[in-house]
Amino acid sequence: MHKKNIIAIFLFGLIALTGSLPAQSQTEIKDRLEPSSWWIGFENPVVQLMAYSENIGFLRPVVDYPGVAIDRITSVKNPNYLFIDLHIAENAKPGNIEIRFSDGKKVRKTMMLELNKREKGSALRQGFNSSDAVYLLMPDRFANGNPDNDNMDGMREKADREAPYGRHGGDLQGIMNHLDYIAEMGFTAIWINPVLENDQPQSSYHGYATTDYYQIDPRYGTNEDYRELVKKANGKGLKVIKDMIFNHCGSKHWWMEDLPSDDWINYDSFVRSNYRLSTISDPHASKADLKLATEGWFDSSMPDLNLKNELLLNYLIQNSIWWIEYAGLQGIRQDTYPYPDKQGMAEWNKRINLEYPNFNIVGEAWIGDPAKLCYWQKDFPNSDGYNSHLKTIMDFPLMDAMHAAFNEKGGGWSDGLMRLYDVLANDHLYTNLNNIMVFPENHDVGRIFNVLNNDIRSLKMVTAFFATVRGIPQWYYGTELLMDGNGYEGHANIRHDFPGGWPGDKVNAFTHEGRTDDQNEIFNYLSKILNYRKTSPPIHTGKTIHFLPENNVYVYFRHLDDEAVMVLLNNSAEEDRTVDGARFKEILSKYSKGRDIMTEQTITSFETFDVPAKSARIIELN
Ligand code: CA
Repeated sequence: MHKKNIIAIFLFGLIALTGSLPAQSQTEIKDRLEPSSWWIGFENPVVQLMAYSENIGFLRPVVDYPGVAIDRITSVKNPNYLFIDLHIAENAKPGNIEIRFSDGKKVRKTMMLELNKREKGSALRQGFNSSDAVYLLMPDRFANGNPDNDNMDGMREKADREAPYGRHGGDLQGIMNHLDYIAEMGFTAIWINPVLENDQPQSSYHGYATTDYYQIDPRYGTNEDYRELVKKANGKGLKVIKDMIFNHCGSKHWWMEDLPSDDWINYDSFVRSNYRLSTISDPHASKADLKLATEGWFDSSMPDLNLKNELLLNYLIQNSIWWIEYAGLQGIRQDTYPYPDKQGMAEWNKRINLEYPNFNIVGEAWIGDPAKLCYWQKDFPNSDGYNSHLKTIMDFPLMDAMHAAFNEKGGGWSDGLMRLYDVLANDHLYTNLNNIMVFPENHDVGRIFNVLNNDIRSLKMVTAFFATVRGIPQWYYGTELLMDGNGYEGHANIRHDFPGGWPGDKVNAFTHEGRTDDQNEIFNYLSKILNYRKTSPPIHTGKTIHFLPENNVYVYFRHLDDEAVMVLLNNSAEEDRTVDGARFKEILSKYSKGRDIMTEQTITSFETFDVPAKSARIIELN
């Protein structure tokens, strides 16, 4: 994508002509070069460095390193920044590249870029996919593996485990200590809520207000710890998905004190977004509404980043590539996906895909209507010509349906299990049914156990459903312990500390003995299904055939050419049901026997199927 001929555009001196004066910094400027390391052998041989130092914009960078040449230099309004495009030849050797900044007479400053060799197979790494089951956890609330980093010098917020919205001390070491617990349940991937530095004065525990895109928050650990966590997780069969946020940064991000240019952020102070994502795909939407949706701030502490600024977009794209390559990631979850400039986000996906064709990214487009959600999936033929290039979307419509379906008596035209059926009936809208993340809940909504009125039977049905329906199932930490919490009464309710994650905790739910009978019941149920799921190609990538729910029983099949799985859900609170097998002969006729994966009993007759009240059956057919 980059031409071989190298054009050097020296804008040195231009600033003086345009009249900008040296910036007056309120705080002492700490020199930065971002990224400060890069690799040889990417499809795109150019890396754009952001150099930050007092009045560096008035200097001219020079590089003398075999195989590395300056392609272009870009100044911005603020002379404390300089953007340098370096072309790295495939035959360049690893080492430290000295970038010398000269005023024409003398070298005034030197910065170092570390040039590395890529790990073998890096480009072809396999991202998470529908053969995986994902465990979502919030690092501040999962396990405190290192109490020494709970409070760190230089970080604004101190730990306070009693404060519902304070930092509780969980960290990367805590996750590393409990990878076996996650793998034991049958999960094959973990999505960790954001871990980049969030040096905000309050509520920094959730991690969605980044203050440094290249630094793990020291209260979670170091960049090296994060890389070690990924290695360890991979070693236990767990892929790692990094949570990223491009729509906004934290108000205390270092660059907020001294922005590169006026258009780095949208609106120069807080103007709240209207959060109406429909304005982006709505052919009738007003420009005013669209502008507020995409350029308004998500929150007062989260300035909205302007991805129409190519330097910022490139900065963020490279940041993703840097983390994938540095830490060895298998996936990214992108927060608030539709809110930033949509062309910029498409470009981000394309660039990641160029370097890592088998990688996967899931975007949080929190949209409850499939007709609006499908707009965001890669290759959907949108009437406005837009292609998001986002491989995986999140099935919020199905989450909403799960929340309602199991609490309803059913029997009407569109209630109860018909809700699940109806959502899946919209699947003609999606371009790839395997690349849809399916979840009963996440860190932003009410705990599913709470939503289900603390009914274990309903939770088991949800578990059976989310693990067998098309797509990539995602579970939220603690639901295997029946964690309860009303999301409408505040997010603290749905982000409790994992019992046993902290030294001195009275209960250790990481162990069988530490869990109650009820907790073990759901833990074992989930583990059984997910460990079976690992071995089931029809569940991973099979087609779906479903039958209209009758008498509160919903039956569907996931099938490939010669293997299939049958799922029966009986949502009746009191009545056991017997279902006539003849109705399903279009698929059952191909098979002679089955095996109930929960009881492990063999089934030799398909005449009828018994499904006890409020329960699910999963039957492997062969
Ligand atoms: Ca800690």
